[in-house]
Amino acid sequence: MTTPAAPVSATPPEGASGWVTVDLDAISDNVRELARRAANAEVMAVVKADAYGHGLVPSARAAVAGGATWLGVAQLNEALQLRAGGVTTRLLTWLYVPGADVGAAIDADIDVSVSAPWALDAVVAAARQRGRTARIHVKVDTGLGRNGALGEGWTELIATLGPVVAEHAVEVIGVWSHFALADAPRHPTVLAQRERFVEAVAELERAGIRPQVRHLANSAATLTNPDVHFDLVRPGLAVYGLSPVPNLGAPQDFGLREAMRVTARLALVKAAPAGQGVSYGHIYTTPRDTVLGLVPLGYADGIPRHAGNLGPVRVGDQRLTIAGRVCMDQFVLDLGPDFAGGAGDEVVIFGRGTDGEPTAQDWASAIDTINYEIVTRISGRLPRVHVGGDA
Ligand SMILES: *Cc1c(COP(=O)(O)O)cnc(C)c1O
Repeated sequence: MTTPAAPVSATPPEGASGWVTVDLDAISDNVRELARRAANAEVMAVVKADAYGHGLVPSARAAVAGGATWLGVAQLNEALQLRAGGVTTRLLTWLYVPGADVGAAIDADIDVSVSAPWALDAVVAAARQRGRTARIHVKVDTGLGRNGALGEGWTELIATLGPVVAEHAVEVIGVWSHFALADAPRHPTVLAQRERFVEAVAELERAGIRPQVRHLANSAATLTNPDVHFDLVRPGLAVYGLSPVPNLGAPQDFGLREAMRVTARLALVKAAPAGQGVSYGHIYTTPRDTVLGLVPLGYADGIPRHAGNLGPVRVGDQRLTIAGRVCMDQFVLDLGPDFAGGAGDEVVIFGRGTDGEPTAQDWASAIDTINYEIVTRISGRLPRVHVGGDA
């Protein structure tokens, strides 16, 4: 498979210091590839956190165009924003606290996850008030030790379900869980969690409750572990063309391509002598007479502060590393003595890598984090420019 060229920057907003280009065709194609790999399982594209920074509604539409029949978000507000944006696809939300407006989810035909009796009570109360049946997915903690009903808690949750299912206050649409080490497909916990899941579903069925969909697999499990696809897979990261298992393969090895490209423009270019300390704390000093470039993006834009002297960028045909500290709004590059460009020149923070620019994974490796954090932290200060799709 040939990798199409990196998305050409659509005309960025005039005079923008920096912007995010999102290739919606890449999102659609990635979902198509995930759906192919999922075979008989359907695809729920996870679009939480503003679609991992890619823009909620346009990304969700692109995922649906690629074959996602479900969408998933963590927060109720994210689900309501999708509905307000005209997205009618089947939708699950899974993280809320007592007092959250679960009635709004029922009104907007949004499926709600239930992990505990208090949550079931809240959903049932809202459903009764409306005279409607709420659609729920019951979540079992199969070993992650995070959300979901654990151990005896699962048995107790099942016991409370019977009567409210019988009165049609709720319909149990799904049963689901989440892995602790999906990125290590041969880790013993993966097999143990699968077994616990099968057992938990059987316990539910013995109580007379037969959900339409069982789902367990995130991106890593979707790509590496067909044994856990069940009826529905729940990829997030891979939808955006990033590898959830960089030690096992790059995006192109899985038939995926990155959708996000972050670009800035140099705000200032100036000559500086050897020995010039650069930016707060002077943790970088020019080793020779050189040219410095000022990039108008900082930690308030999502450039990690600890990327000082570490973060990679591309300017023209040079691959450079940030010089000195990252400030709130800006950082500096040592462009070298022969730099021939000027203010206004483009600086690529990361992209697909096909033009020599760093990738989000390069950033993650450089500062010892994961690619998830790199894309999701790019702030709303940067306008999103959507290209491809029906944008
Ligand atoms: C975020 C999330 C996903 C998607 O995970 P990826 O690793 O991005 O594929 C799936 N399920 C749950 C419960 C999540 O929180």
